[in-house]
Amino acid sequence: MTLCTLREVLDHARRGGYGVGAFNVTDIEQVEAVLDAARRTQSPVIVQTIAGASAFASDELYWDLLLRTVDHYPDVPVVVHLDHGPDAETCLRAIEAGFSSVMIDGSLDPVTHQPTTFDENIAVTRQVVEYAHARGVSVEGELGTIGGSKDGATHAEIILADPDEAAEFVARTGVDALAVAIGTSHGAYKFTSPPDSTVLHMDLIVEIAERIPDTHLVMHGSSSLPAHLREIINAHGGNLPESWGVPEDEKARSTKLGVTKINQGMDSHMAYAAAMRAALASDPLAADPAPAASAGRAAMSEIIAERMEVFGQAGRARDYTATAFRSPAAGTIA
Ligand SMILES: [Zn+2]
Repeated sequence: MTLCTLREVLDHARRGGYGVGAFNVTDIEQVEAVLDAARRTQSPVIVQTIAGASAFASDELYWDLLLRTVDHYPDVPVVVHLDHGPDAETCLRAIEAGFSSVMIDGSLDPVTHQPTTFDENIAVTRQVVEYAHARGVSVEGELGTIGGSKDGATHAEIILADPDEAAEFVARTGVDALAVAIGTSHGAYKFTSPPDSTVLHMDLIVEIAERIPDTHLVMHGSSSLPAHLREIINAHGGNLPESWGVPEDEKARSTKLGVTKINQGMDSHMAYAAAMRAALASDPLAADPAPAASAGRAAMSEIIAERMEVFGQAGRARDYTATAFRSPAAGTIA
């Protein structure tokens, strides 16, 4: 078992001056793709998933299989993280399932999807931190509103994070990591042209990092949306409009400015979907989905390995001594 907390992995990243990719997974083949890439590049890694967004009907079944898959990679330091927990109850479910880290996204009301007040965000975040920290589990919060769609169901406007609020938020909640809205956006449609400093406010990262030096900064919506993957998808029945994401060099630069966790879902999902569509199209007699899923897994693993080099986490598992996290469900707490 190599399950680690987010705090532990990101502290190592800060000491080493590198960033750690947090890759969204919605199926077990994708978990394998991430962990294979981490093993191949000798990277500490964060595997993250959004409740209700997997191919499984049951979160609990999926989460159990996800954690069991991690057991097959004893050589890889892995954080299993809940991405965008909409409320305290969902975070508690993930902690009970054995996750070593959760995100409580108190920036939006879970029912209306409208921005909450600063005090409402603090109240729910502090509630999750108290529960999680008592069990050795790390917590990420969110300040400001990161734009776009997290799960395809909602579409939020961007509200940039405020450095003064960030300092107060951390002081009052005790979060280990903070997602800061700096202009990035979730989903497969981000920017209508290559983003510049009027879109991506990298200066905000520096300002906020100075105010909360003990808290890790998280960049959400960091996919690049590679054009060649969009072309493969569109050549096989897709119709993704042209869109620009976050350039690779900006992601690498963010790790030098104070970002230690880089969330990336869409790039690896595009790689998976492109390879799967191409594989299905190449065999008109295909009835078993496994060969197409296998092609998707391999393509996803490839792009993730490339990102691990860009973020700087490749090779960092070599000098990593994990303090194994044991979930409360397993009977002990690290
Ligand atoms: Zn996000």
